[in-house]
Amino acid sequence: MYRSFLIKYGEIGVKGKNRYIFENLLIDQIRFSLRPVEGTFDVRKEQGRIYVDVTSETYDYEDTVEALGRVFGVVAFCPLLQVEDEGFDRLAETVIAQLAEAYPAKNFSFKVNARRARKDYPKDSMTINADMGEKILEAFPDCRVDVHHPQVLVCIEIRSLINIYWEEIPGPGGMPVGSNGRAMLLLSGGIDSPVAGYMVSKRGVAIDATYFHAPPYTSERAKQKVVDLARLVARYSGPIRLHVVNFTDIQLYIYEKCPHEELTIIMRRYMMKLAEHFAQEDGCMGLITGESIGQVASQTMQSLYVTNEVCTMPVYRPLIGFDKQEIVDVSEKIETYETSILPYEDCCTIFVAKHPVTKPNLEHIKKSEQKLAEKIEELVQTAIDTAETIRVEA
Ligand code: ATP
Ligand code: MG
Repeated sequence: MYRSFLIKYGEIGVKGKNRYIFENLLIDQIRFSLRPVEGTFDVRKEQGRIYVDVTSETYDYEDTVEALGRVFGVVAFCPLLQVEDEGFDRLAETVIAQLAEAYPAKNFSFKVNARRARKDYPKDSMTINADMGEKILEAFPDCRVDVHHPQVLVCIEIRSLINIYWEEIPGPGGMPVGSNGRAMLLLSGGIDSPVAGYMVSKRGVAIDATYFHAPPYTSERAKQKVVDLARLVARYSGPIRLHVVNFTDIQLYIYEKCPHEELTIIMRRYMMKLAEHFAQEDGCMGLITGESIGQVASQTMQSLYVTNEVCTMPVYRPLIGFDKQEIVDVSEKIETYETSILPYEDCCTIFVAKHPVTKPNLEHIKKSEQKLAEKIEELVQTAIDTAETIRVEA
């Protein structure tokens, strides 16, 4: 039924002279997201609006709606009917026929919202509203007009063609990816980090990811789970370069040399250091983690202070003030939750101490790390040299 979609974008509309750059990025991202969808599409800009036109005979409507619903920068989109101007009576017939198909019960409240962008049309907007309202009421006697809270807002835009739409499907909002540089996500198999990546990417940031695994203590399946999570995030963020770092020897060495209650915190410091290395290599301008204050021992204010100290790049922690349930809600919305809760082992949990420090002292931790002096640089270098890079696409 629908051959076009009208894309509504909010925030990027206010960028002054940069506006066209953002619009073009948004168009690129829309095109990219539609690539796997059955059908062919033309995405075009016309008179300050973005339209998606279906150019193939058939296409998959559901998949199109899903794809458009994942493009950052899209506030909402409307399945659109575009018709030639063949006079008002013909227009009314079309509107009525389409409404009948969309709402077979024919007993909704409605309001007509007309806009005349072309002043040579014989009726002005107010008259179109009134006349079209009357025609709809004649056709559907059980309907009623409600100008304040209509169930159906019938929008009619008189342009060179006439746009008719009444359904507005929400998009994710945010800014088009690519408008705001690149950042490195520390991606584990948990619930939090995929959500953190999604949230930063929503602001227009392209992302790469680093995952630390510890074979044979962590399995191939645990790694596959992280690849799967990256793929789910990539549906929103676009392609992700995923660096898979073998962390086993570093972990074992820390385990051998340092007090066990400090293991997690020292390990986290090496994770940040290594992630920053790959971030620099990839041209990233920040790190992203899924940390939230107080969630676990390694995320107290003191622990975050000690972990953060190894980084020179900004570390973005978009979940910092979120409770677990709020994080779960987002992960359900972006459909990473089901994958995140699969029960595969995580490299952090393997050597976990019974009573990890919750208030680590930086000087104390640095002193413990001196016990690693002999071999740690070599181990870090080996971890870098042996890392595997996987390009993950939705
Ligand atoms: P998540 O649900 O994201 O795994 P978590 O609640 O398990 O988080 P931690 O294990 O303390 O919390 O990890 C905090 C953050 O450190 C994670 O959100 C993630 O960004 C990063 N991180 C933890 N483990 C790994 C790993 N194996 N590889 C890459 N990053 C990791
Ligand atoms: Mg974790």
